[in-house]
Order: sequence, then C-alpha cells, then structure tokens
Amino acid sequence: MNTVHRRDFLRHLFTAAGVTVSPLDRLAFGTSGVAAAQQPRRIVIVGAGLAGLVAAHELVKAGNQVVVLDAQLRAGGRVYTLRDPFTDGLYAEAGAARIPEAHDLTRRYVTEFGLKLISFQPDRPRQTPPNGKRVLEPVEQARGALGNALWSDDSLIEFLDKGGAESPVQHYDKIEGGNDRLPAAFAARLENRIRYGAPVVAIQQDGHGVRAIVQHSVGRDVVSGDFLICAVPFTVLRGMDVSPAFRPAKRRAIEQLTSAAERRIYLQLATRYWTNSGNSGFELTEDVDFFDATFGQPGDRGIMMLYALGDSAVRIEHLMPDQRIRYGRDEAERIYPGMSTNFERGFSWCWGEAPWARGAFALYKPDQWSTLQPVAIQPEGRIHFAGEHLSSWPGWMQGALASGLRVAREVSARA
Ligand SMILES: Cc1cc2nc3c(=O)[nH]c(=O)nc-3n(C[C@H](O)[C@H](O)[C@H](O)COP(=O)(O)OP(=O)(O)OC[C@H]3O[C@@H](n4cnc5c(N)ncnc54)[C@H](O)[C@@H]3O)c2cc1C
Repeated sequence: MNTVHRRDFLRHLFTAAGVTVSPLDRLAFGTSGVAAAQQPRRIVIVGAGLAGLVAAHELVKAGNQVVVLDAQLRAGGRVYTLRDPFTDGLYAEAGAARIPEAHDLTRRYVTEFGLKLISFQPDRPRQTPPNGKRVLEPVEQARGALGNALWSDDSLIEFLDKGGAESPVQHYDKIEGGNDRLPAAFAARLENRIRYGAPVVAIQQDGHGVRAIVQHSVGRDVVSGDFLICAVPFTVLRGMDVSPAFRPAKRRAIEQLTSAAERRIYLQLATRYWTNSGNSGFELTEDVDFFDATFGQPGDRGIMMLYALGDSAVRIEHLMPDQRIRYGRDEAERIYPGMSTNFERGFSWCWGEAPWARGAFALYKPDQWSTLQPVAIQPEGRIHFAGEHLSSWPGWMQGALASGLRVAREVSARA
C-alpha cells in the first residue's frame, strides 16, 4: 500500500467514525432531501435491512408507491437481536451492537420513532488489567473511533502503533429493549408494503420499467415497477440473475468487494460475577473483544459476548460447534476467572453462514475507496444501489441509513 492510498484509506476510516463527513454522504444530514413526487413512481426495493427500509420510508412520505421484498420473515437484516437461546428475557445483538455519539443519522431515526437509548458500556470501561492477554493499547482508542472497518488491516495497525493517528474516545449507546426495535419501527410504519419470505432470484429491466423475480416454494412471482432499489449486500447480489447484464466495471466491483470475517460466541452466566472484582465486562484483546451484552439489562444473569474478527474469526470457524463454545469459555476464563462455575449455556453466530448476508460487512482495500466505490454506487439504468457497503460508514447502521437516503434522493430526481 503506498502512502497516498493509506492516507486516503485513513481519511475514510475517520469519516466512518464521524470525524469528518465525506461528500458522498454530506446530504444525508438535516432533511432527507427526497423531493415530493409530482407523479407517484412505482418503486421496487429488494432488501428490508436499514438501507431498504429508510429508502422506502422516505419515498412513501414523498408520495411514491413502494413494495419492499425481503427473503426473510422479519425486517432488519444485520440488525438482529437474539432472544431465543437465552433465559429471563435477556438478549444480545447478533449484528449492530453500539451507536457512536457521532452517528447523528442513526440517532435521528431513533428519536423519530420515540425509541430510548441507554449506555452500551460503563463510561470508563477498563478499570482493571485483564488476566493472561495483552490488551492492544495503541489501537484500542482508534478502534473505538474507527470501529468495525479496522481489524483486518495489519498495516493500519502498524501505522497507528507508530502514533500515526489520534482519535477521540467515544461514548456508545444502544437501544433499550434491543437494536432490532429500530428496523421494527420502520417496518410497522411501512405496514403491508413489505412482503416477507420473498427471496428475489432475478432482476430485469428495459426502457419501460423493472421486474424483480421472487422464488416461492412453488413457482415464481414477478413484481414490476418504474425503478428498483437493490439494497442487498454484494455477496448476495452475486448470486442473482441480472438481465441485461450490468456493465463490466460494475460486475467487477460486485465481485471484488470483500467482506469481513466475523464470529460471535455468547456465554450465558448465572451471575455477572466479573463486577464483583471491579471489572466492567468490556475488554479488547489480541484475539477477541469481550462485551457484557447484558449491561443495563435487569437481573443477575448475564451474557458475555466474545467478538472475533479477521484471522481470529477464521480460526474459530474451523472448530466444531461445541469446540467453539469451549474455546469461548477458555478465553473468557483467562480474562474473567470464574467462568466455569457460572456457565449455563453457549451459542455462536456467524454472518458468513447467514444465506441472506454471506459476510459481516464490507471491507474495502485502501485503493478501492477511489477505484471501486465510485463505480459500485452508480445506478445501472433503472436500478439503484444501497447498503452499508455503499456509504462512508461501512459496517455501521449509519452507513446503511445514509446510503438509503442517497438512493431515495437519486430515484426521486429521476424523470
Ligand atoms: C457483526 C456485526 C457487527 C456490527 N456492529 C455494528 C455496530 O456496533 N454498530 C452499528 O451501527 N452497526 C454495526 N454493524 C453494521 C450494521 O448492522 C449494518 O451496517 C447494517 O445493518 C446493514 O444494513 P443494510 O440494509 O445495508 O443490509 P442488511 O441489513 O444486510 O439488509 C439486507 C436485507 O436484504 C435481504 N436480502 C438479502 N438477499 C435477498 C434476496 N435475494 N431477496 C430478498 N431479500 C434479500 C436480507 O434478508 C436483509 O434483510 C454490524 C454488523 C455486523 C454484521
């Protein structure tokens, strides 16, 4: 990676943290910028993640006819709160977990829907040094600010190690009751405009309109419109039939954008015993991050969430399911002794194995910011593209929302 590219990359990463705002998403702030429709357009949106939901929400408000198609039986995509495997009404996040202070777009919609934010973690997360593992001091703060995009880039870590960047310490929040309350609120507003259990297998367009082909267990449905918003990850779009084929540069962008490897392990414990020794339940180590997923939730029981990205995630991937839980217990025991006597049940989740995500979030190589992303966000005829991967905040809800607003403005500006 040459120096210019690295600087470019860092600029974008800091943008991701909300330190500056790039031209790509500048218009996302303030009003939505979606023009009232002179004549209602029929818009088909593929994907009811936050990108598709916010686009639908704003386009409906502007007077358009919208149909949202999602393969799953719920809205929210990678904003997914896990409840089932746990007892006492406890919950933990499979995807989006924390909302940085600077993410004003996410916060704007949290406020619009009357949802309540609570702290993600205690304000001073590391009171005592962890046992047995070196905490990554030089990158800790930067990761706090840069977050999800940082892990897999060794050269960046090296750069930060040498004092190449300063970053603000962030305060994070989460939505009381689970972050899935945000997509659920959008979905409630959109009512029956969302069709669940509707996997799109092909998209087609001609001079007059667009068609999404939905595969059912028996037969196929065709949903037609004037424009189509494709709000699914590129990892999924790769498997769709597109007719006529996109331009070669676009096809290359869809193929080449990689996504982060990630794995989460959840350990339900009889008590949040780590607090007895003054630990916050939040630690960043070389291999995994530890989050007390139940911080702020009532009761004695707790869920310790281990979050592995990059190489650590790939290593865990190769283990059998019960070995993954064993690995999690051993790691947690090293950091918070007492795990074995408090352990009740374990669970693990990986977005790479989820058929409608096929990866955690977009991981741009440094030069791809200037080469791949401009092509990736371009519309193809009547088809427009949204998703966290097509924003200045890849790996964040803010990115999905910003891209959804961008695409809603694009479509509303079409003749
Ligand atoms: C492990 C992890 C940790 C994260 N941590 C945070 C965090 O702490 N804070 C934060 O703000 N963000 C975080 N994020 C990022 C955030 O979750 C995403 O940026 C955001 O949810 C992406 O929204 P999206 O609409 O772009 O895509 P998605 O949420 O993936 O939505 C795409 C939708 O398309 C649907 N779909 C896919 N294929 C088809 C098809 N063929 N037909 C019909 N429908 C289809 C899917 O079912 C899905 O509902 C995290 C993400 C992950 C994975």
